[in-house]
Amino acid sequence: MLKTVKDMNLKGKNVFLRVDFNVPMEDGVVKDDTRIREALKTINYIVEQGGKLALGTHLGRPKGEKNLKYSLKPVVDYINSKGYFKAVFVEDCIGEAVEKAVNSQSEGTVLVLENLRFYNGEEKNDPEFVTALAKPFNAYVNDAFGTCHRKHASVYGIPSVMDEKGAGLLIEKEATYFDKLVKSPEHPFAAILGGSKVSDKIGVIKSLLDKADIILIGGAMAYTFLKYNGLKIGISRVEDDQMDTVKLIYEKASQRGVKILLPVDHTISATFGGAPVYCETADIADGMMGLDIGAKSIENYKNALSTCKTVLWNGPMGVFEQDDYAIGTYALANHLASLGITVVVGGGDSVAAANKAGVADKMSHISTGGGASLEYIEFGSLPGIDILR
Ligand code: AMP
Repeated sequence: MLKTVKDMNLKGKNVFLRVDFNVPMEDGVVKDDTRIREALKTINYIVEQGGKLALGTHLGRPKGEKNLKYSLKPVVDYINSKGYFKAVFVEDCIGEAVEKAVNSQSEGTVLVLENLRFYNGEEKNDPEFVTALAKPFNAYVNDAFGTCHRKHASVYGIPSVMDEKGAGLLIEKEATYFDKLVKSPEHPFAAILGGSKVSDKIGVIKSLLDKADIILIGGAMAYTFLKYNGLKIGISRVEDDQMDTVKLIYEKASQRGVKILLPVDHTISATFGGAPVYCETADIADGMMGLDIGAKSIENYKNALSTCKTVLWNGPMGVFEQDDYAIGTYALANHLASLGITVVVGGGDSVAAANKAGVADKMSHISTGGGASLEYIEFGSLPGIDILR
């Protein structure tokens, strides 16, 4: 059982909450505050329960050095300008500055500590850094799902040394969906896998071969599969060094009776992002590259998905950033939204695609973690969540 904030007595406690405020910034301005808004439920809950709250997060990649380009100060200003909560910036994440701020914290305010990755000890999970980070606090909550695959000090180190700990409401929701997906999905269970590389997703594919009934392949990844099957792929993106992996995938799929569907037609072009041409066969002419799945493939995939009760979607079907090559991705997004079945969208580009298609709110669950969601499926849990159990 995963212990959550709801199982904790937070009244009067000094709570360290690990959040993921690694928001996109441009010239010191927050460009997208989804990650902040996603943490608000847990923040408000802890404050309502009478916990004295401090938030810890990383921002960007300062690589263990204090670099004000990655300071949390503009994020704190942004939070206050939006009125999300009364945020007080603390100019360090360990030491005297934090202790002073915690001791003089006024009711209803939330401390936001400076970037955890200004210290090497964060990513190294250095015991001395963990002790310093944990020192002012007597309760720990993690709501940063996107970092739970990392054994960092603020994710793994503190909960290893603190007894009073639990998951935030966002992690609780993520874990509920992914647990169900990896342990007891309702069948038929389809996985839609797209995006750029087979090599990035080998672990997930292997694990899905044990669980799913159908795997639909799209994106650049499809061309490696098509080439393995002896089809012509022109100058499409391909990973020639992954043919043995694909062979193993087919062997395992045939042992378990998992169906693997590939595109049977495409939208192609002579250059990346050039004028789109319809290719009605699975074979692609010399000098042309596949950039999206075609109309017949879309129909095949829609028909296969209509028979399913659970779908995991990871990765776009084409170069969805360009309208000419977003048709397959959007068609599947809209279809998934209409089915009324469990659809889990696993992080990264598929989330952007669901948002762009305007159907994000119709999916059962949109994960906040790209790498974390893939590792959850591959390993059945994540270190940052296991340590809270
Ligand atoms: P990933 O990060 O692995 O999910 O890959 C997402 C990226 O794959 C997106 O930026 C897409 O534009 C890209 N992509 C999808 N289909 C293709 C394709 N057929 N050729 C090249 N890139 C693609």
